[in-house]
Amino acid sequence: MSENLEHVKCFIIGSGPAGYTAAIYAARAALNPVMVTGLQWGGQLMDTTDVENYPGYADGIMGPEMMEDFKKQAERFGTDIRFGIVTSVDFSEIPHKLVVDEKTTVLADTVIISTGASAKWLGLESEIRLRDAGGGVSACAVCDGFFYKNQDVIIVGGGDTAAEEALYLAKLCNKVHMLVRRDEMRASKIMQERVLQTPNIQIHWNTETVEVLGDEGVVGAKVKNNKTNEESVIDVTGFFVAIGHKPNTDIFKDWLDMDSEGYLITKGDSTETNVAGVFASGDAQDKLYRQAVTAAGTGCMAALEAERFLAHKEFMESQKESVS
Ligand code: NDP
Repeated sequence: MSENLEHVKCFIIGSGPAGYTAAIYAARAALNPVMVTGLQWGGQLMDTTDVENYPGYADGIMGPEMMEDFKKQAERFGTDIRFGIVTSVDFSEIPHKLVVDEKTTVLADTVIISTGASAKWLGLESEIRLRDAGGGVSACAVCDGFFYKNQDVIIVGGGDTAAEEALYLAKLCNKVHMLVRRDEMRASKIMQERVLQTPNIQIHWNTETVEVLGDEGVVGAKVKNNKTNEESVIDVTGFFVAIGHKPNTDIFKDWLDMDSEGYLITKGDSTETNVAGVFASGDAQDKLYRQAVTAAGTGCMAALEAERFLAHKEFMESQKESVS
């Protein structure tokens, strides 16, 4: 029975920079926000080392430390932070229904989605098998790099994440082979320069992975130069993948407009989705900038828009009551 269900004004899904910023604004606006963190509280920044481009941290800060600060600030204003995942939603009417951990239904007048994005994989059978077996395939150098101290590793990708992770691994490992599928990198110039100036990083241009080698643990990778079709084997014990991310929006596909890659579509210069009272922020809706600071910005926008939505709803309800 819906009368017995918990009913909140503002429900925030996800705990990256977008979610925490939304929480800070919503809590300060007395919306008593409830946040469900997702499995990886803090989001992608928990896997990051130095964050050098978030304004306010003149000397840079470690990603997890920054997220701890975000969390403390959201808690300071009374955000109710709960560890768990939203497993399904029903956005057919207000209040919206959200099921947490497949068992608890919560009703919410407004919902702020800040579910972020997750690492993409190459999709090779050998890669997935060794990843699932904990056999040396990883998408997080910061989490797993330590296991490959003084060893040789591969990192796949040519974006800022791959560059950042290659630099991190280069400090720990004997040699880092970076596989870039084109003859140029997508990473920012400054990151490219750092990679190029690091003696124990070898870039393999125009190179793709054919197979990760090894039965119980990685022993190497068969790679192919896509210009010459020449195949070769690189001996390594660790295989890192850093080829971008996929937005975590699958649970919304029956309700919300999204593009072909799954990024939520918002209206004009707002965080409004196609469903009234549901707002989308951060990497779940931004495929262009994908920065912590832009995620925080859209988290702020979502909370302000949720507040205005609730004020308008309350005003309309009070008008109805005064007429009747
Ligand atoms: P990107 O989408 O920017 O880069 C993905 C990289 O992986 C590209 O080089 C791409 O190649 C390659 N790639 C994609 N699919 C495959 C495949 N199947 N096989 C081989 N290679 C593949 O993702 P990132 O995660 O690097 O960055 C995401 C965003 O986050 C960016 O905006 C980035 O600037 C930002 N970021 C910023 C950081 C910072 O400022 N400190 C740190 C990390 C990320 P191709 O170019 O050919 O498509």
